[in-house]
Amino acid sequence: MVAIKRVWNDLLDLFYPNPCCACDTPLVGNEEVICTQCRLSLPRSNSHLIEIPSLADKFAGKVLVKSVYTFLKFEKGNRVQRLLHHLKYNNRPDVGQTLGRLYGQELRTARVNDQIDLLLPIPLHSRKLAQRGYNQSDAIAEGLSETLAVDWSATLLKRSKFTSTQTRKTRMERFENVSGIFDVTEPEQIKEKRIGLVDDVVTTGSTLESAIIELLNNGAKEVSVITLAAAY
Ligand SMILES: [Zn+2]
Repeated sequence: MVAIKRVWNDLLDLFYPNPCCACDTPLVGNEEVICTQCRLSLPRSNSHLIEIPSLADKFAGKVLVKSVYTFLKFEKGNRVQRLLHHLKYNNRPDVGQTLGRLYGQELRTARVNDQIDLLLPIPLHSRKLAQRGYNQSDAIAEGLSETLAVDWSATLLKRSKFTSTQTRKTRMERFENVSGIFDVTEPEQIKEKRIGLVDDVVTTGSTLESAIIELLNNGAKEVSVITLAAAY
């Protein structure tokens, strides 16, 4: 029965091959979600090896961040943009899990797992969550948690306020727009913990900043940011 199923799946792949979510070439053999070639050659930031000043600058002078880790370089039209698009708009949480697992492996080689006690994804507002059906940052945290061997929680950080888009606002307006939008549901669970705050992409940093303030105000020891991609 298993053999028949495998043959059937191979036949399906032959006629309707799943494309790689990054480069669109058909996946072959055991490849899933992202092809081997892309897994090896996606443009890495290597921010766990060398600090990227323009990335740290997004938070400088505003809020205390331990480290900012970002997996991939975001450029318009590149494979990273395609991956993020699938993750956010094409009902593909498996893209987040896959990239989270890959990034967790890399961070583990730099022993980042020894510096983080708990992973917390940036939550979506319940209205947005109902629309999309999943929180893309949960998917990333799940993947990271698997290979980093660090716990994660989808409920300790909650989004209480719905916010409009950030892109056409000034820095001050952006900050006012996102201040106080997060709540910590059980402060005793994050007390003295070193938190890895997980998001898909760093743009202005304002949303992350607001979450960092909330975590530190509720007794977290320190906060690092871990994202899949950043433009810098
Ligand atoms: Zn590919």
